[in-house]
Amino acid sequence: MKALVALVGRPNVGKSTLFNRLTRSRDALVADQPGVTRDRQYGLAYCGEQSFFVVDTGGIMEQESEIGSLMRGQAQLAIEEADVIFFLVDAREGLSSLDEEIAEWLRCTEKPLKLVINKAEGRDEDLVASEFYCLGLGEPAIISARQGQGVEVLLQALLTLLPVAGREESEIQAKGLQLAVIGRPNVGKSTLVNRILGEERVLSSEIPGTTRDSISIPFRHHGRDYTLVDTAGIRRRSRILDRVEKFSVIQSLQSIAIAQVVILVIDAHDSVVEQDLHLAGVILESGKGVVIAVNKWDGLPLEQRQRVKKDLDRRLPFLVFARIHFISALHGSGVGDLFPSIDEAYQSANSQLPTGELNRALLAAVEKHPPPIVKGRRIKLRYAHQGGQNPPKIIIHGNQAEAVSANYRRYLINYFRSVFGLMGTPIALEFRTVK
Ligand code: GDP
Ligand code: GDP
Repeated sequence: MKALVALVGRPNVGKSTLFNRLTRSRDALVADQPGVTRDRQYGLAYCGEQSFFVVDTGGIMEQESEIGSLMRGQAQLAIEEADVIFFLVDAREGLSSLDEEIAEWLRCTEKPLKLVINKAEGRDEDLVASEFYCLGLGEPAIISARQGQGVEVLLQALLTLLPVAGREESEIQAKGLQLAVIGRPNVGKSTLVNRILGEERVLSSEIPGTTRDSISIPFRHHGRDYTLVDTAGIRRRSRILDRVEKFSVIQSLQSIAIAQVVILVIDAHDSVVEQDLHLAGVILESGKGVVIAVNKWDGLPLEQRQRVKKDLDRRLPFLVFARIHFISALHGSGVGDLFPSIDEAYQSANSQLPTGELNRALLAAVEKHPPPIVKGRRIKLRYAHQGGQNPPKIIIHGNQAEAVSANYRRYLINYFRSVFGLMGTPIALEFRTVK
């Protein structure tokens, strides 16, 4: 499991600025999808080799002044689940009474806590720090989230705060393709999971994961091995008849991080709702393979079927590359058909794209529809090679390559997608200018 760092602090101290600085790496993947706004609350950040989740609790706190009511819902959950808390304050504004209130509240959580003094560029560090010593929160990190000073040091400090053992991904033993079933409450996740597992041979008893509810369940389908990763306790929940689900985006994130392919379950009764899009964005940002299961298709009136299809078309960012299945987890119809799409998504995500073929595809794409003229010169895209897998990353070299518009990027991505038959995975494009 990946560690979770929660950014806490009153409005305007720079939480989202720090969040953006820490999580920038996946921006392009999401930007390439029309109609998606990147999730600004949950993200993946890197510290050397290690990656961890960051959650900006500010975005999910309600805009009220009472600290008690601020800290609730997902923000509360995030803090409960966090391994480390970064408490941000503002060097320019100095200590405020709201800071003191939050500090008081955080003291009760007993989590490792780092006081982060932001907006400190051009300020005397000792002077800045002295103002906040009275909070009694120990040695602060002094940073400028906007300009980047001190952020490296903060990350180094984080490494010492993170739990060392016990949260390694490798601890969950897996066999075959790792699969996660994701969706908001009541869409039919546990019905689907139990349908899949009920029909297949579960190879061994479930393997306990590192957190209380997390398990992974190896099973076989048509002679292939899979492992269902279940950090949200979907399976166990149904068994002990505990129907109350504490929906946690963080648990979904953990599952997505472990999984190789994600099944996003949507409830046809409700069609596509805000929370589905939120999860869709998170999955997209992860770069993982994805299959969409529109559940509860059984007995659905024709008008509702049409409405769902229209909503999917209009609202779902994966539409161009994910297979969509209309299923009934309850009755089992369509469930078996998920597997070819799951396998396909995995294979696509891990594709090797031979350089020769990539170059031919680039040439053909450019010939068919040349890149636009920028500053009086036509952008020239010369050659391409694969820069990584999972998701496939294509690096294109040329001149003025960085001036390629979003539309043209999408055109190229779709072109590569159809040439190489890459279904179920996003494609990352990177442009490099040849000097
Ligand atoms: P949040 O409400 O805590 O998420 O705060 P934001 O990240 O939205 O930042 C609030 C304001 O502070 C914005 O205008 C930022 O540009 C500014 N800001 C953030 N970090 C810094 C910094 O390191 N230095 C300065 N001078 N301004 C910053
Ligand atoms: P979860 O919270 O996402 O795990 O959802 P559950 O699997 O607990 O299902 C929520 C409710 O939807 C239960 O009452 C299920 O019986 C019902 N449900 C699940 N799948 C289907 C389906 O395919 N068709 C219909 N009609 N109901 C379903």
